[in-house]
Amino acid sequence: MNELIYEGKGKKLFATENASELVAEFKDDLTAFNAQKKSQEAGKGALNAAISAKLFGLLAENGVETHLIKPLDETRHLVKKVEIVPIEVVVRNVATGSLTKRLGIAEGTKLDFTLVEFYYKNDDLGDPILNDDHALLMKLCNAKEIEILKQKARKINEILLPFFAKVGLNLIDFKVEFGRDHNAGGKLLLADEISPDSCRFWDAKSGEKLDKDRFRQDLGGVKVAYEEVLRRIQGVL
Ligand code: UDP
Repeated sequence: MNELIYEGKGKKLFATENASELVAEFKDDLTAFNAQKKSQEAGKGALNAAISAKLFGLLAENGVETHLIKPLDETRHLVKKVEIVPIEVVVRNVATGSLTKRLGIAEGTKLDFTLVEFYYKNDDLGDPILNDDHALLMKLCNAKEIEILKQKARKINEILLPFFAKVGLNLIDFKVEFGRDHNAGGKLLLADEISPDSCRFWDAKSGEKLDKDRFRQDLGGVKVAYEEVLRRIQGVL
């Protein structure tokens, strides 16, 4: 078995024979509220691995470079080793979650323009929101990278929003992470995953939630919802 080099909330990372490649294994663990709420859902890792592989493929075809080399099996992806920028980039089309709590914008309000936010990836601090100057002050990235992160996040939204609309899902918001590829001069690649763990999807007709909010809000049917997202994606990709 390859050496485990990192275990996060949703994935394990293993070394490979090639120093510039890693294996990412998607776990069945579900966590929310900075891991204060925890559970497991058998098969969730495989669903996220399949969904993320499809979406990363779609994005790559549309010019967004990603760390994914190829899926290996049901739960594992071969990925390029990157240095993760410790910023969670959140893109929002509709107000919900922490945005409604923090600013009092009514739940479900369609935003006048796409909002991009940065959060510091730091569990001890509870992932606090950052402005550009905070990110620079903390040396999390440089000024050029800030612009690239925002530009890439918006481009991902421009690709995913119409794609999900086609399969009857309203892409409310999502979180993405990027990494520096030091074999390519530090170029930023989309990394981590895009899945119902990191996105909010509302059914276009019924408004039903088909994402991790089913777990956060104890709505039940987590796996059925993730299966439904995969089924719809597989219908067109
Ligand atoms: N999100 C995520 N990981 C986090 C925090 C947020 O994937 O650690 C995603 C979340 O699923 C949603 C979006 O980012 O799609 C915006 O989340 P929000 O800030 O509203 O946070 P929450 O309501 O989860 O606290």
